[in-house]
Amino acid sequence: MKIIMKFGGTSVGSVPALEKVVGIVRKAFDEGHQVITVVSAMSGVTNKLIEAAHQAEAGDEAIARRTRREIEEKHSQTTLAFLGQSTVREAVMAEIQALLDEFELLCHGIHVLGELTPRALDVISGMGERMNVRQITAILNVNNLPALPVDATALIVTDNRHGAASPLLEETARQTRITLAPCFERGQIPVVTGFIAATQAGVPTTLGRGGSDYSATILGRAIKADEIWIWTDVNGVMTADPRVVPNARTIPQLSYAEVGELAYFGAKVLHPQAIRPARRAEIPVRILNTFEPEHPGTLINNRIDTNGHVVKAITVIKNLSLITVAGTGMIGIPGVAARIFSAVARIGSSVLMISQSSSEQSICFVVNTTESPAVQAVLSEEMARELERRDLDEISTQDDIVILAVVGAGMQGTPGVSARVFGALGHFGINVIAIAQGSSEFNISLVVIEGEADEAVRAIHEEFRLHA
Ligand code: ADP
Ligand code: ASP
Ligand code: MG
Repeated sequence: MKIIMKFGGTSVGSVPALEKVVGIVRKAFDEGHQVITVVSAMSGVTNKLIEAAHQAEAGDEAIARRTRREIEEKHSQTTLAFLGQSTVREAVMAEIQALLDEFELLCHGIHVLGELTPRALDVISGMGERMNVRQITAILNVNNLPALPVDATALIVTDNRHGAASPLLEETARQTRITLAPCFERGQIPVVTGFIAATQAGVPTTLGRGGSDYSATILGRAIKADEIWIWTDVNGVMTADPRVVPNARTIPQLSYAEVGELAYFGAKVLHPQAIRPARRAEIPVRILNTFEPEHPGTLINNRIDTNGHVVKAITVIKNLSLITVAGTGMIGIPGVAARIFSAVARIGSSVLMISQSSSEQSICFVVNTTESPAVQAVLSEEMARELERRDLDEISTQDDIVILAVVGAGMQGTPGVSARVFGALGHFGINVIAIAQGSSEFNISLVVIEGEADEAVRAIHEEFRLHA
């Protein structure tokens, strides 16, 4: 089989984790599979790089040097553990140092200019992956595995939306086949950077935070992989985030559609876009635990299973704001919803959820908090006349809210699910601020305040006995 194996930050973030990775790759290789690995930066590195870039922009001259030392130390310790004092280690550390030199230089430029462009941020934030593929390749090599480092800038072609670029699938398929064919012929194991890509002109981009999952499925589609295995630090997709619900359990199988909903609504275990390439190419995806490799984890494929639990999982998206446009005269304003959402689209903001009261006296919708001031401003401008005439009473913003999504196939066909969700929340005195209108048949989504989100998840988890 052709198997893409993606290893996330914690799976490649320490010596014991990397030992597991070597074992996992060896097993698949020895079984005769063609393995392509996609790896993240060591855990914490991407955050550090991004933070340093922002601090440099804000005027901190010393941050780049400090960050460099921390990252260098992490790689130095790791390579020492696997490679000892050797020429191989020296060669790898030289490559990592060259990248860190580039990082310092970039931060210096940002500091001098006092400006961090999205394009520069993409170059900086992707450096952790570039360092790590070199390190991991050397580690696999000393373990007699024929690995080869590959920067995904030579494989994945995207548009130029820095920070959240989208792949151009045809170009990517072509590039990937050309670049990886010699590797496959020689029986080598490519170790590909997750997260990063490049435009057609070769300008570096990234696929958004957590984007290595997306890299794995984009590449899986490009090379027509038989399976995609996402190795992480939990036993597959669970009924809720185990950090919030300690007795959450693994969901053995999910459909692409269900996982799409879960990822979109905040289940961090998979990047929101990652399921799409796999779904289109009908490639099974497994979510597996690097630290417990024998656990079967979660299998994601076409099968929609409505037996057993109707509600399968609960997720939360945080850092959101609720924008409400309200007024008794609203009913008389022609095309009001269209005007509101066109204005929001004009400034490039995306709306995560919409809810309209049946009396048509208000429309509310959810956006990312980082975008809410701009949304409020553009709406005040668009609706200036209506506000002045008092057809609209106000446009208001409520910060610190979350969307809670209750996901499961066949839920809409089962009466009483909503009633049980609201009953459970009511029991704990949790107020539901809004519910989504016309959400997909796979989910019910509602808005609660951030401070009550964890309790709300636990209440619904309990109500549907998802731990059982
Ligand atoms: P990686 O670095 O391997 O990509 P992430 O931290 O991005 O790992 O994603 C894994 C984490 O996602 C888990 O540690 C867990 O806390 C979180 N998570 C959130 N919701 C879920 C869920 N429903 N099932 C499993 N994990 C979840
Ligand atoms: N290293 C990147 C991030 O932290 C990508 C990833 O881990 O998937 O966002
Ligand atoms: Mg992740």
